[in-house]
Amino acid sequence: MARSSTNRIFVSTRTCLLAASLLLVSCVLGRVEAANKGGPNSAVRPGDNFYEYANGDWLAHVPFPAGQQTYDTRIMLAEKTRERVRDLIRESAAAPSRADSVAQKVGEYYASFMAEASIETKGLAPLTGEMSTISAIANKSMLSAYLGTNLTREVDGLTANSDHVFGIWVNQGFEDAKHNLPHLWQGGLGLNERARYLDGSPQAVELRAKYQTHVAAVLKLAGFANSDIRAARIVTLESSIARTFAPDSDATDVFKQDNLWKRQDFDRNAPGIEWEAYFHSAGLNKQLDFLVWQPSAVIGVSALVASESIEDWKNYFRFHLIEHYAKVLPKVIRAEDFDFYEKVLSGGAEAPDRAEDGIDATNGALGEAVGQLYSQRYFSAEAKRRAQAMVRDLITAYRSRIANLMWMSPSTKEKAMAKLAALEIGVGYPDTWTDYSTLKIIPDDAFGNMRRAEAFYHGRDLAKLNQPVYPVEWPLHVQIPGAVIMFSPNAEFFSAAILQPPYFDSEGDSASNYGSAGAGIAHEISHSFDELGNIYDARGRLGMWWTDEDRARFHRETERLASQLSAYCPFADLCVNGKQVLSESVADQAGLLVAHDAYVLSMKGKTDVVIDGLSGEQRFFRAFAQRWRRIQSEAALRKQIATDTHAPGEYRTDTVRNVDAWYEAYKVAPSDKLYLTPEARVRIW
Ligand SMILES: [Zn+2]
Repeated sequence: MARSSTNRIFVSTRTCLLAASLLLVSCVLGRVEAANKGGPNSAVRPGDNFYEYANGDWLAHVPFPAGQQTYDTRIMLAEKTRERVRDLIRESAAAPSRADSVAQKVGEYYASFMAEASIETKGLAPLTGEMSTISAIANKSMLSAYLGTNLTREVDGLTANSDHVFGIWVNQGFEDAKHNLPHLWQGGLGLNERARYLDGSPQAVELRAKYQTHVAAVLKLAGFANSDIRAARIVTLESSIARTFAPDSDATDVFKQDNLWKRQDFDRNAPGIEWEAYFHSAGLNKQLDFLVWQPSAVIGVSALVASESIEDWKNYFRFHLIEHYAKVLPKVIRAEDFDFYEKVLSGGAEAPDRAEDGIDATNGALGEAVGQLYSQRYFSAEAKRRAQAMVRDLITAYRSRIANLMWMSPSTKEKAMAKLAALEIGVGYPDTWTDYSTLKIIPDDAFGNMRRAEAFYHGRDLAKLNQPVYPVEWPLHVQIPGAVIMFSPNAEFFSAAILQPPYFDSEGDSASNYGSAGAGIAHEISHSFDELGNIYDARGRLGMWWTDEDRARFHRETERLASQLSAYCPFADLCVNGKQVLSESVADQAGLLVAHDAYVLSMKGKTDVVIDGLSGEQRFFRAFAQRWRRIQSEAALRKQIATDTHAPGEYRTDTVRNVDAWYEAYKVAPSDKLYLTPEARVRIW
């Protein structure tokens, strides 16, 4: 389980990105704590340094948390939400709930995970059945059938690098928006990444040696003789598997993943695995079409089933079976798992915290059950209604922005409008929750509960193959602060946990909500129409809908913005790389403009009230600036500039320089440092 923290698609909680058709974003809609509180910083002229004006007091007084290089409202919100989720789960475990209610399941799952004495007493007995199945494998047909039982998705649903040799994700086709298909992913590497097996550097060689030691230790703890020899063979087999993997660079090129295989293509293209046995035990024997993301891995692993010894495969299965369930096995196994995955691989130094692992495990297995409890307490129906009203204003604003785009041709605009009309936006929490009634959560059965949860999701995935593509299942849990763009189907999701103060206050100032969360949501929507989204149509099917002329005109406009960004130099020897942050900065601009249009729409011609001496227009822009407040060490800032596709917060704030309404709101004059002449303002959106 430890490895699921790393994967290629869910890039990081800090980046706003993308890979392939499910574009998992966790672009946080950062804003400040209590933007409505406190007046402006009168020591700084807004037109000279808007970031400092909006954030100066906070920047001067907020301390770095111990050991941290960076601190911002995103981290603050993640901590706050974590605390709330922790309390909800613990309360569910402590208080009796109605049998089979979501609270009961959440409480029992956590309690069983925490029942360490019971886990200790059982030892490795829970694995006995499957260990026997592995030991009984006597031929390639049985091996293939066993591999099929391992075709599962990770419980959290956001993991690309499955810890079994193939992973499955059920979603619509790349070109067929009417049917759900099984998408097959490469997987099965204990070291997570292909490069870690192929890299010849001393560090990589050392890492592999440590991994081999870990594999041997796990097998020895489980009572296997000759664990060193077995471990060496397992790492050799995994290295062979790694060589079949598609390179990481392919992960962002969805066209390379669009490989439709018919059932018979597996026999023809990928000999080795007995596919009939494989798909039968995977529950896919009636399935005719598949999307194979990395054909090289399916072909290569299948060939390895033919070429490598059954005994090596069995040892590989044994090790990964133990590793997969390590968190619900005895302490010696857990400690070994922690030492390798948390210390060696992730560089962490803290001691394992059973209670925190329990929170993670419960969230992973019963994400929507926890989400129901979370939204009941923290995100009311009224909050959802207000967020939906804001989204409606954003969509209305986008409609006229798109109609007036200078760089998009009339025929392309028609396609953009159709895509906008079809775009589904989920805010807060799903309209329909996952029905967990068939999932039995049994006291004192941590292992069984985890296994049943996995089977439950696999069953749901398979059932989806026969269901319409809509309604869309929420791809993120509402208690995780974040957003997800799914280009395919055409949908975006913003969790309850991101739509809360300090980002969105359902009982607070509307101008600030539009300037902060509104601009954040509009930023994400823009990605559906920019160079990321222009390869997916209104139904989420692959296909370019921009023309070459649209693209050329778009690039001409954006070049001016790149130059503007490259002139921002926080250090004498280091400036922002305008090209690197261009795509996200264009989205920032779209987000701010559209959110402002939406705010104006929401006022329906009325003038907003004055709060703390600030007009609604002023609070709108101040809230936007406050989204980006962040303290970070010089090293962290330098690293961000070198690697991040987002500009530092101060320069994201400077998006206002291209927006006429900001000049009016704050009476910014030619003598102010941030002033740009109307001709110098970049107007892409
Ligand atoms: Zn973005």
